[in-house]
Amino acid sequence: IQSKLPNLQVSIFAVMTRLAEETKAINLSQGFPDFNCNPRLIDLVFHYIKTGRNQYAPMPGILPLREAISRKIAGLYGALYDPQSEITITAGATEALYAAITSVVQSGDEVIIFEPFYDAYPPVVKYSGGVPRFIRLNPPDFRIPWQKVKNIISKKTKLIIINSPHNPTGAILEKEDLEKLAEIVDGTSIFIVSDEVYEHIVFDNKKHLSLAMHPALQRRTFVISSFGKTYHTTGWKVGYCAAPELLSHEFRKIHQFITFAVNTPVQWAYADILNKKELYLQLPKFYQKKRDLFRKAMLASNFDLLPCRGTYFQVADYYKISRESDLEFVKKLATKHGVAAIPLSPFYDEEPEQQLIRFCFAKQDATLIKAGERLCQI
Ligand code: PMP
Ligand code: GLN
Repeated sequence: IQSKLPNLQVSIFAVMTRLAEETKAINLSQGFPDFNCNPRLIDLVFHYIKTGRNQYAPMPGILPLREAISRKIAGLYGALYDPQSEITITAGATEALYAAITSVVQSGDEVIIFEPFYDAYPPVVKYSGGVPRFIRLNPPDFRIPWQKVKNIISKKTKLIIINSPHNPTGAILEKEDLEKLAEIVDGTSIFIVSDEVYEHIVFDNKKHLSLAMHPALQRRTFVISSFGKTYHTTGWKVGYCAAPELLSHEFRKIHQFITFAVNTPVQWAYADILNKKELYLQLPKFYQKKRDLFRKAMLASNFDLLPCRGTYFQVADYYKISRESDLEFVKKLATKHGVAAIPLSPFYDEEPEQQLIRFCFAKQDATLIKAGERLCQI
């Protein structure tokens, strides 16, 4: 077989979770909670299974869920999306990213991707015949260098992929970033994919800035989110894409032949729970406490912690401990010290000279304290 993606490796998330299981290390690698979701949500799923919501959902998703998403976006970001034609429920944000990227990118099109990037973006761009153009974000703040974006844009640029709050760095976009982006794409036909799966996990009283908030950006953007992060249910794999009608129309052509439709009883459960605003509104406080607990537990360690403004990931610099590669370092961390983390190098096209790794703090307090104790001994 002639591989379509010859250089692609198994995802680092799969590799590290397997290593954590093999070594029985505390798993702060792949991003998922080690606590259960809201029992109400479980009851709702049971309820809908028992009452017979067990057949195919409509291709774009059940209408009450699309309506609830539309109300949520209008309430939080002041943008109007028609639930009938502009919101599509997907099998996680992963499917939404795939459908959005493949619905616009054609052979030879250039796509701007910021590094470090969430690992799903470049393979989908390449698979579509697109050419990624990487722009590096630098520690400690990982801000977007807009002048570089402006310089790299050409007639070939078809798409820019934005991710805020940002995985793996925890950086978030500020108002001036949205303004700069709008200025740069003005007068072009560039599309935007905005990966906002951590939209409800933003700290220190900051507000998430969705691209939906900015009318000129909203018109050209696929806004993507995931219920997995918001409701501690990463294994249920349900997300969505909100995009103007013309974009959603093309998006659905792809979506209908990836999955056709998504898990029915889970959609009904989310439709109910999404109307309880307090659940997602209390998420920043919930995770901020965990971030602060983990940072405190690491105070006496030899790691330097970078700022974390959103997501449930903490990036740490281990240069005081070792100068070995991040992949070597995380392997040792799991096997010898009993904590699994994610190296940052798989999130780059070309490996940078740095010693950064990512810890997930979506864990029980006791897990974070125990991990902190182990990490302080290194
Ligand atoms: N985008 C980002 C930035 C993510 O971190 C993740 C998963 N953690 C996804 C997309 C995929 O989300 P899902 O699990 O809903 O497919
Ligand atoms: N997004 C999750 C993370 O960043 C992992 C998802 C996956 O395993 N593909 O850890």
